[in-house]
Amino acid sequence: MIHYKTSEEVDIIKESADILGRAHGEVAKYVKEGVKTSFLDKIAEEYIRDHQGVPSFKGYNGFPAALCISVNEVVVHGFPSDYELKDGDIISVDCGVFHQGFHSDSAYTYPIGEVSPSVLALLKATKDSLYLGIEKAVFGNRLGDVGNTIQKFVEAKGYTVVRELVGHGIGRNLHESPEVPNYGKKGSGPLLKAGMVIAIEPMVNLGTRNIVQERDGWTIRTADRKPSAHYEHTVAIFEDKTEVLTTHKYIEENFKF
Ligand code: MG
Ligand code: MG
Repeated sequence: MIHYKTSEEVDIIKESADILGRAHGEVAKYVKEGVKTSFLDKIAEEYIRDHQGVPSFKGYNGFPAALCISVNEVVVHGFPSDYELKDGDIISVDCGVFHQGFHSDSAYTYPIGEVSPSVLALLKATKDSLYLGIEKAVFGNRLGDVGNTIQKFVEAKGYTVVRELVGHGIGRNLHESPEVPNYGKKGSGPLLKAGMVIAIEPMVNLGTRNIVQERDGWTIRTADRKPSAHYEHTVAIFEDKTEVLTTHKYIEENFKF
């Protein structure tokens, strides 16, 4: 069942998303070579708790941290750890905030130091595909229009789209209906209606689209161990507009490369 939100509820999600955006911005200050990914997690959790939020992911089905940190071939759901970021890595930082009964969710993939041009191009294409998808996430379209646009764009560049993991509705629960695939057919899937709030999150691989789960029960990596990129925003559909509720603004202000 899809939960349609009132504009008052969307306003609360926007507050949640503001805390989230600023938490990402704090993390961004420390994303560099030599930093342990567990330190980034600590920064995010402290910021969120100091600003009337609760980290959505911590404790979710037993997930141990505030951030999912996914380095290089890890697609999503990596654990923060003692791993120190090194020159040439890419790192996806995914975070959710729960505030006044509502969740928000967003992710960003950073390059660390000198990243190869082919991997930088993957990051750019994945981020661009998110915004192209959002352009199609408008009242009266169908979810297949969003997924089809993302898929076509990245596949035309020779990349692949992960199928097993998808975006999602979001609100009182971190993951709600509908599923938001990053692939699909134009004109297919659920109709986009006013009050829908969805997280759109392309996961795009440089090599094969196939993934495997590590034995920890969470970490998802590419089957061929080639890099994968991930960007995400939470958006609200209105009859006359679509609003991006989360922001990468504070990341891009604080992270220079
Ligand atoms: Mg996320
Ligand atoms: Mg999500």
